[in-house]
Amino acid sequence: MSERIIPIADHRLKQASGGTFIEPSGRLLDTRVRPLHDLRISVTDRCNFRCTYCMPKEVFDSNYRYLPHSALLSFEEITLLAKLFVAHGVEKVRLTGGEPLLRKNIEDLIKMLSDLQTPDGRPIDLTLTTNAALLARKAQSLKDAGLKRITVSLDALDDAIFRRMNDADFPLSDVLNGIAEAERVGLGPIKINMVVQRGINNSQILAMARHFKGSDKIVRFIEYMDVGNSNGWKLDQVVPSADVIRLIQTEFPLEAIDPTYSGEVAQRWRYKDGSGEIGVISSVTQAFCSTCTRARLSTEGQLYTCLFATQGHDLRGLLRNGASDAEIASAIGNVWVAREDRYSELRGLEMEGMPRPKIEMSYIGG
Ligand code: SAM
Ligand code: SF4
Ligand code: SF4
Repeated sequence: MSERIIPIADHRLKQASGGTFIEPSGRLLDTRVRPLHDLRISVTDRCNFRCTYCMPKEVFDSNYRYLPHSALLSFEEITLLAKLFVAHGVEKVRLTGGEPLLRKNIEDLIKMLSDLQTPDGRPIDLTLTTNAALLARKAQSLKDAGLKRITVSLDALDDAIFRRMNDADFPLSDVLNGIAEAERVGLGPIKINMVVQRGINNSQILAMARHFKGSDKIVRFIEYMDVGNSNGWKLDQVVPSADVIRLIQTEFPLEAIDPTYSGEVAQRWRYKDGSGEIGVISSVTQAFCSTCTRARLSTEGQLYTCLFATQGHDLRGLLRNGASDAEIASAIGNVWVAREDRYSELRGLEMEGMPRPKIEMSYIGG
């Protein structure tokens, strides 16, 4: 890392006197006055699906070189880093991947993380995003380990479309059974993420709304994004969230509702008849960089401050070279206060110029 390491207390004073931003509470703010609130931790770069928009088979084939086990952060390393992020203001931690349920003994990590508390003594909001292929088998042990809730990715309710999209011939019934089991053991409220791709699964928007309306599950329709370099993204494959809302309104009247917290990525809508809620995530048509409070920790311990970052900051190197907790906390703080990222706001400009290499979603986590 290029940042100079200084003890955390001095670091805060330095930020205040150096003209950068700091909240009265002492929480860190980046150069666009965004606090550090969420941490996404990728626990594996492997996956049992080959979603065509994320890990296309042609790239992630048998020759693809995944990280060796020794490169992965251990559970102790992850927990220590998460603790330092929580001390810096993180209140929400999401485990992701790759497919997080493929990481061996993930329940042990959940047990360790579920003990973390914010500086004022509240438990952190610990959650996990999964493709749910293994969820029916694992829901109870995840709940017992201390996981509070879960997000399931599900792109179609038509088995043929679903299998085509996961490109690993996983049946839809496994995912639906996983969702049912997660509900049974109390991992709710469950959010369901659907990435909408024009010409691939836009026929499923109404089917998803109909299926989950009247339950306490919240479907979030996500605009297909140009993450990574391998999915061949094109703008005309994006279905704008405004169109999704218009379509659902043709069948079910909706009204917009307030975000649960500032920086929430999904715009929330509820059915006027009181039968539930949906969300839309408009990363392409309505960039939300100005309220983006998320840091991402890759499987091998690189800290990224944007999903579209080209470069990470090596926290594993600090950990394994014997840096103290205060030094690592200070390094994290230095990265956050220097953060300028707003890729989605600049996407249009960027697309007119040379495309730049990006990290893959399966490496950094969604
Ligand atoms: N394997 C787990 C899963 O699919 O839920 C967790 C990791 S996955 C990378 C996290 C989320 O990113 C999923 O909801 C997935 O649909 C979403 N995602 C992946 N590629 C995407 C893309 N190109 N655009 C929008 N969302 C994407
Ligand atoms: Fe795997 Fe999730 Fe990517 Fe699909 S979206 S390939 S399930 S990591
Ligand atoms: Fe946040 Fe980067 Fe996405 Fe903007 S493009 S919302 S800064 S992750």
